[in-house]
Amino acid sequence: MRYVSTRGQAPVLSFEDTMLSGLARDGGLYVPETVPTLSHADIAALAGLPYEEVARRVMMPFVGDAFDEATFADLVTSAYAGFGHDARAPLKQLGPDHFLLELFHGPTLAFKDFAMQLIGRMFEHVLARRGERVTIVGATSGDTGSAAIEAFAGLNAVDVFILYPHGRVSEVQRRQMTTPDAANVHAVAVDGHFDDCQALVKGMFNDFAFRDRVGLAGVNSINFARVLAQVVYYFTAATALGAPHRPVSYTVPTGNFGDVFAGHIAKRMGLPIERLVVATNHNDILDRVLRTGEYRTGEVLPSISPSMDIQVSSNFERALHLAYGGDGAAVRQLMEELASGGFTVSQGALQALQETYASGRASEAETTATIRAFARRTGETLCPHSAVGAFVAEQHLGTTPMVTLATAHPAKFPDAVEAATGVRPALPPRMADLMDRPERTERIANDLAAVEALIDRSREAQAA
Ligand SMILES: *Cc1c(COP(=O)(O)O)cnc(C)c1O
Repeated sequence: MRYVSTRGQAPVLSFEDTMLSGLARDGGLYVPETVPTLSHADIAALAGLPYEEVARRVMMPFVGDAFDEATFADLVTSAYAGFGHDARAPLKQLGPDHFLLELFHGPTLAFKDFAMQLIGRMFEHVLARRGERVTIVGATSGDTGSAAIEAFAGLNAVDVFILYPHGRVSEVQRRQMTTPDAANVHAVAVDGHFDDCQALVKGMFNDFAFRDRVGLAGVNSINFARVLAQVVYYFTAATALGAPHRPVSYTVPTGNFGDVFAGHIAKRMGLPIERLVVATNHNDILDRVLRTGEYRTGEVLPSISPSMDIQVSSNFERALHLAYGGDGAAVRQLMEELASGGFTVSQGALQALQETYASGRASEAETTATIRAFARRTGETLCPHSAVGAFVAEQHLGTTPMVTLATAHPAKFPDAVEAATGVRPALPPRMADLMDRPERTERIANDLAAVEALIDRSREAQAA
């Protein structure tokens, strides 16, 4: 399996090198050169299997020779052993044809754990074999960072620096990043918003001298290995609902487009997905581009679903690459126009996008009303992101079963949930002391040179 850049000008890489490098050197994102497919019979055979077995069968064709089958099976098994639910991604019913896929039973209570727990183990295995050491940098609007810190804390071959927007993550999210005490993980509070953090990470990757000096690696959803791990639960949910014999649709609370793009890969692999509905909060750039073809960035507005507060959605570039039939030059042109404010998708590409994706948005008031309504109607307490999804899903219900992805546990966003329902959601018992643990963080200006200097200093201190 070979991986190519969406912009067509970076070296073609193996899975292993794609995973370790993150962003391509031409500024693009790596995608599989061709997406492997599973037959109707292969998919039918997944129904009822343990999550780990489905994960192995779905991911193995992408991994190539990076791991042998037995090693990969071990990594997958250990990745999900710490989850708080035997089904890993249990499916619940919300209405006659509306289901909720709970993706928040991992160690940091958001879907990011599905990918990060596996990536941590894959990195450790590959780096030990190569005798190498890397520095992971990541930008987070809250959940990626906590999942990465949790997955990499205490590993030997990896230093981790997570940039988060100061004052713009929930207290639970912040504490999940600042309370692990392993010396190799660092939570860095940037004076800016999430897009600034993401731009700093891209800036570090594009500073080749720095990149090579520290052995930079990325675990943001620009890393294809993360997208891959998220493909699996589209298969477990669909086969539980009758696929491949009947189609399924999904509504996905979306920010950086990684989770919903994993659904697109599942569809390309042969899973009968009728529609992928992209759900946004009032930062609705993705809803607008999917309806009109106009991608114009604006101001990031804070919301009660902060993991979706975004104006530049990195993985959308991967969907564009597919919509433009793999034309790297066309994608490069769009991304150049984006640097000066926005672009317009061609008619043909917009049509291709709309064959796979639908979209909708939820205002803050609609999100709160949805949390309240589902608690009353179904007894399920939704986090604000999942509520954005459930609201948009209800506008797309039809004859095909609809699965809304529940991306985080309500206790990660207790203020918004309490405001909606009057009840403060409790943390699961295994992390009940989170609010009492000591915190450790470093605050820094929104400045590339300052962040690079901080990373250099910390690495020297560790080496000394
Ligand atoms: C990361 C995140 C999202 C957005 O996912 P993307 O893959 O960035 O689109 C939505 N909800 C929650 C709770 C998240 O942590």
